[in-house]
Amino acid sequence: MMLRKVTAAAAAALVLSLTATACGSDDGDSGSGSGGGGDKIKIGIKFDQPGIGLKEPDGTYSGFDVDVATYVAEELGYDAKDIEWVETPSADRETALSRGDVKIIAASYSITDERKQKVDFAGPYLLAHQDLLIRADESIAKGEDLNGKKLCSVTGSTSAQNVKDSIAPKAQLREYGTYSECIAGLSSGAVDAVTTDDSILAGFASQDQYKGKFKLAGLSLSNENYGIGVKKGDTETVDKVNDALEKMVSDGAWEKAVKDNFGPAGYENEPAPKIGDIVK
Ligand code: GLU
Repeated sequence: MMLRKVTAAAAAALVLSLTATACGSDDGDSGSGSGGGGDKIKIGIKFDQPGIGLKEPDGTYSGFDVDVATYVAEELGYDAKDIEWVETPSADRETALSRGDVKIIAASYSITDERKQKVDFAGPYLLAHQDLLIRADESIAKGEDLNGKKLCSVTGSTSAQNVKDSIAPKAQLREYGTYSECIAGLSSGAVDAVTTDDSILAGFASQDQYKGKFKLAGLSLSNENYGIGVKKGDTETVDKVNDALEKMVSDGAWEKAVKDNFGPAGYENEPAPKIGDIVK
């Protein structure tokens, strides 16, 4: 009798723990399940960068990073419908990965030695260059002309760091949380220029409300090697993402994503980088 009671209790405990495990795969407190079979994957992107990572008014997502991340997720064994997009502003990316808020990040995320102390990267999958967005009737010939000017960039970005370190240390740098806030500042006259990757600026410049108002200065102020961020030490995911990126280039999907997303902005991208090939 006693034995039967114990067995029943053990069986109940087992059922409970199995239920907990089943719920655990999609209860939202980890970056992903084990892959396939309806598990979810959380992916960090930008929500406000047209052509790169944008949450559309209808709740869908578009942009080159979205297409790259979707391809990668499918190669990792997830259905596109099982991707949960999470907004990861520039300053939050390392923390989002180390906390396990997201499994991977595809958010105009440059591979740098400093960031590699905290996270791992797959890629690169795009080479961009830092540039300036200015009002159409102005011109800036070189980075140092920004000294004394009101310049906007984003906290936690390489763009802001490069300005402070080398491009124009005497610029009046305003660091906002997102590039869309900087663009609003350029539009209102609060700042004289916005600086970040040309790939991002081209997307903003081509928006209907800014057409003819803003232009890119056309300066190549840095090399920005976009990588897919992965939690530090998760080499298995890095390897799988690298395989996916290689396949995306070889089967033509990378080129299609470039045309679909950068074509409308007239952004002339660099050719697909080789995995592990960082341009300094
Ligand atoms: N690619 C640069 C970076 O990773 C600038 C763009 C961004 O802030 O996302 O910091």
